[in-house]
Parts: sequence; structure tokens; C-alpha cells
Amino acid sequence: MGAKHSGYHVVEKIRKLGVDLRSNAIVHKIETGADGQVTALHYLSPNRSATRLTAKVYVLAGHGFETPKLMLMNNLGARSGMVGRNLMVHPTIDMTLLSSEPLWAGRGQNIHGAIMQRRNQPDRTRIPSTRYDLLNNPPTVGIAETALSERKIGAALDDEIHDRSARIFTFEALTEDLPDKANGISLNPGFKDSLGLPGLRLDYRTSDYTNANLPRLMDDFANFLQATNGTRISAPTQWICQQHIMGTVRMGTQAEDAVVDRDLRCFDHQNLFLVTTGVMPTAGGVNPTLTGMALAIRAGKHIAKEV
Ligand SMILES: Cc1cc2nc3c(=O)[nH]c(=O)nc-3n(C[C@H](O)[C@H](O)[C@H](O)COP(=O)(O)OP(=O)(O)OC[C@H]3O[C@@H](n4cnc5c(N)ncnc54)[C@H](O)[C@@H]3O)c2cc1C
Repeated sequence: MGAKHSGYHVVEKIRKLGVDLRSNAIVHKIETGADGQVTALHYLSPNRSATRLTAKVYVLAGHGFETPKLMLMNNLGARSGMVGRNLMVHPTIDMTLLSSEPLWAGRGQNIHGAIMQRRNQPDRTRIPSTRYDLLNNPPTVGIAETALSERKIGAALDDEIHDRSARIFTFEALTEDLPDKANGISLNPGFKDSLGLPGLRLDYRTSDYTNANLPRLMDDFANFLQATNGTRISAPTQWICQQHIMGTVRMGTQAEDAVVDRDLRCFDHQNLFLVTTGVMPTAGGVNPTLTGMALAIRAGKHIAKEV
């Protein structure tokens, strides 16, 4: 019903302002002049027909993988050696339990709330920041699958779904990771997509710093179990990626170790802005999108002065 913000609202607004929005347009080639200024970009349509566009100012906003991929494909921002490096993803671990009382997850917004006490503790230099999410995904499909695999059918299946749907609950812990040049994306010329463009290679290893969080997380999970008088039904076993992509075109104060300045302008290409959470030089332990939007608005104010 449109009550929640999404990119759709922006699309509606800019269309009314007369913006020419082109979909099914995959940018692949970016031209630069002798002074490093971007002079044109090219996009491909699904039928591989090519279009060249010129402008005064250019913005790449293809998120934290495709933005550095485009930069690498076109040898942009190369001075820092940081394009595609320092990938951070908020490694996450979760635990699902059955509480003794009905909690009724699955109604309302998809996260009930968060526990923030572990965000910035005095031992942060040794143990990373954490945000606990109280997940609220509808649990019925997983419950039904498990019950069916246990050969529960008919009334027994109904009873199981009714009982577990009310009591199942998942906590997830998002953990801070640090910028590390060894973690990142690079071009994978061995893989071509349907337009013949190179794929991505991803290298990522959780650090000792991130892993140092595990004993505390396990203690906290044990406390959550006790507080809900619950029974653990999935034990936390391994880190998963939280899909928060950061660091790959990092912000900084100088071209020697950063790709963009505080306004998201490329050090090497003064009329090119990178609008993505990939600019974040560190990750903290909290979701990045609102900060990404704030940075986009700030970059927009600078761009508006130049066009
Ligand atoms: C499952 C999931 C859950 C998430 N939950 C949360 C959450 O709860 N809270 C939170 O803060 N964040 C969350 N995130 C992260 C959030 O989605 C991103 O931070 C946010 O979408 C980034 O916005 P963006 O505009 O930079 O990139 P995107 O939203 O990814 O937009 C990039 C756009 O660029 C386009 N594009 C890419 N390459 C090209 C190209 N070569 N040419 C033309 N177009 C191109 C893509 O098609 C896409 O439309 C979640 C992500 C996922 C996947």
C-alpha cells in the first residue's frame, strides 16, 4: 500500500520532475579524458544494442559489488589500489528456540525489535560490536516441512503447526567486521554473463576479531534461552553473510588509500560520484542503508551545485 519507503517512491517523484529513467540498461563501459574526468558511459540493452551517453556529472550507484566491478572493468580509481578491497558484510549467526509461552512471531513488521546493549562495550578493541535482531519471519513453512519430514500428517500435522507457530522464535546477531585489504571482489574473466560481461570473484575470511565475538554470543544466546524458558531447536553453527555490503569503494581523506572523499566524489575522477554503502570505511554492527541514504542526499546537494 506504499506506507513503507522504497525506491519506488523516488521513481514516482523524479518521473514527475521529467527525469528520463531507462531500465534494462546495463552500464559496462566508461570513457575518461586526459584529466581523468569521465566523458561518456555506455550501456547495453538485453538484445545487446549499445547506447552512449554524455553528461556533466556521472553517478555510479550499483551497490557494493557492481560499482567496484564497473570501476575495475574500466580501470577507474586505480591510484589507491582500494577498488574492490576491504569488503565487510556483517557476519551473522542465529539461534531458533521454542519458548514455553506463545510469542506469535510472524505478525507485523519483519523484525520485532533489536537489542543494542552490545553495540559499543568497553572491550570493543578486542570484541566487536553486535546488534541482536528479534526476527519475525512467518515460520509456518519451515515448521510444516519439518513436521512432514517426521511423517506427521492430518490432525497431528495441524497440532504441530498450531503449537510451534505460536512458540518459535529466532534471534540473530549481526557482528562488526574490520576492513581488510585481503577481503574483496575482483573480476572473474572465466565467467561471462548473458551480455558477455565478466563475473565477480569474491574473497572473504572472517577475522580473529570477528571470531572473538563467539564466546560472548553463545553466553547471550544461553541467556535468551533462559529468559524465554525455551528449548533450542537450531544451534548456532557458522557465520552467514548479512547482505550488508560495505568497504569496497572506501571513503577517506586522500587518494593514496581511499576511492572517494567525504562527499562521495572520486579522487581520480572529479566529475564521478559513487553512491553506495560500499563507501563506508568501517562497518560497526548496525545495518548500513539509512546511513547510505543520508550520504546519497549529501552527495546530491553537491551534485546539484555542479549541473
Ligand atoms: C535480503 C536482504 C535484506 C536486507 N535487509 C536490510 C535491512 O534490514 N536493513 C538495512 O539497512 N539493509 C538491508 N539490506 C541491505 C540493503 O538492501 C542495501 O544496503 C541497499 O539496497 C543498498 O542500496 P543501493 O541503492 O546502494 O543498492 P541496490 O538497492 O542494490 O541498487 C543498485 C542498483 O544498481 C543496479 N545496477 C547494478 N549494476 C548495474 C549496471 N552495470 N548498470 C545499470 N544498473 C546496475 C541494480 O540493478 C540495482 O537496481 C538487505 C539486503 C538484502 C539482500
